[in-house]
Amino acid sequence: MKTSETPASLIMIFGATGDLAKRKLFPSLYNLYQKGKLSENFAVIGTARREWSHETFQSHVYDSIKSAGGENEGIDQFASHFYYQAHDVTDSDSYLGLKKLADQLDKKYELEGNRIFYLSMAPEFFGTIASHLKTDGLTDTKGYKRLIIEKPFGHNYPSAKELNDQLRHSFSEEEIYRIDHYLGKAMVQNIQVIRFANALFEPLWNNRYISNIQITSSEVLGVEERGGYYEKSGALRDMVQNHMIQMAALLAMEPPINLSTEEVRSEKGRALKSLRPVEGDEVEKNFVRGQYGKGTIDGKELPGYREEANVDPASNTETFVAGKLLFDNFRWAGVPFYIRTGKRMSSKDTKIVVQFKDIPMNLYYKAKNELAPNLLVIHIQPDEGITLHLNAKRIGQEMETTPVKLNFSNKGLHGMNTPEAYEKLMYDCMKGDATNFTHWDEVSLSWKFIDNISAVWETKKADDYPNYASGTMGPKASDELLEKDGFFWWPVTSLDVKDY
Ligand code: NAD
Repeated sequence: MKTSETPASLIMIFGATGDLAKRKLFPSLYNLYQKGKLSENFAVIGTARREWSHETFQSHVYDSIKSAGGENEGIDQFASHFYYQAHDVTDSDSYLGLKKLADQLDKKYELEGNRIFYLSMAPEFFGTIASHLKTDGLTDTKGYKRLIIEKPFGHNYPSAKELNDQLRHSFSEEEIYRIDHYLGKAMVQNIQVIRFANALFEPLWNNRYISNIQITSSEVLGVEERGGYYEKSGALRDMVQNHMIQMAALLAMEPPINLSTEEVRSEKGRALKSLRPVEGDEVEKNFVRGQYGKGTIDGKELPGYREEANVDPASNTETFVAGKLLFDNFRWAGVPFYIRTGKRMSSKDTKIVVQFKDIPMNLYYKAKNELAPNLLVIHIQPDEGITLHLNAKRIGQEMETTPVKLNFSNKGLHGMNTPEAYEKLMYDCMKGDATNFTHWDEVSLSWKFIDNISAVWETKKADDYPNYASGTMGPKASDELLEKDGFFWWPVTSLDVKDY
């Protein structure tokens, strides 16, 4: 038997026949199991509408792990811990059936009454399920009870508050784990370490030395089959409210007094409180929205957003957002944090570029190469690493400068893939560590910020859609947003010394 690092747990997955469970949750649990991080005292109950047997579910889990690739050792043993019960989310009898099965498994696997409820289904059911879990007695257990909630957490501040109030009838804030899977990514978690464990950076991490910060999260894919969902969401709600703002908060926050969940979340919350609201006429000046049109990627002709399935042919939904965030505090006054995210862009890339200010006097200005600014690039995905861009002397007789790169790659160092974000987050939840989940205070502050922008965009139809071709880095106005301030987007695909 493997030694484990997590307490015994029953994990109940609502929406267990869905895409997320298959692609992420089962393989992540399996990886934890393989690494000995999951106690043998664990069981999973999958629930969804379909009438499946335990065996059908187990073979579904088996297939999901096979198709995730990697090692396959011990899958049968792992899958034997999985049970299935068909479920109607609004019917109390269904919950009573689940409770009975949960109690049986509790005894069989000695789970000590520890329960995680993972809501991996459409958000309109989150509140109903949480209420039933309490009223039908599933949360009435002697062990811990925790609720993992997938995104989106509401559609705006009022709906998020309503959902939160509903959840709080059944679970305390400490028991609610709101997933933002970006917070499980290795290099997002590394932001704090880079900042707070290096004497080199923290003294420079302010408006005296940093000129601007750029956060890009671009996708090549379009909306695929998610047109129906995306029409109601758009890039602002789908990406900016959560992932982009979370990354900005991690970059902007003050050092916490320790790494406890409370202190880290409280500093992130304080950073978000200093985020200058963008409202009314300011929206157009500080934010750019875009929608992709037709285009070619890798020689393939692709339709515009309005031609996609389940999309209104006159849709006003944005598939791209660029914006300028300003944190009004002593550390950051005057330093723009630019964010951009979108679909059907030229590359799939998540990167942070920290651009340092130019040195006050350039002694080498007359040399052939002008000096390039120092950059710290944090590569989040698909590559994981850090690059520091410096200037050095070109080899030879002349006193010429040349840009050089100091590179660190996660792959290069460990020779293996870093764990998937979901693997880390599920592990954290089992251990009761909520640091990398979003607190309600953060969710509410970021919704309030976003609501001001969507209020303008929803009342004023974009008259230039589609305004960027598929396979490009977004509309022209996104470049102009930085040009107005004397900056430009560093090219994310090739932040290579040769490229500038
Ligand atoms: P999905 O549509 O593939 O699966 C939904 C699941 O819910 C299925 O198991 C379905 O049977 C079940 N279900 C639907 N209606 C039901 C009902 N009335 N009663 C009982 N079961 C019902 O969805 P998904 O892609 O797996 O996403 C699940 C959640 O995760 C959503 O909140 C989504 O926004 C979020 N999410 C998904 C991804 C992803 O990569 N798929 C990424 C981030 C967040």
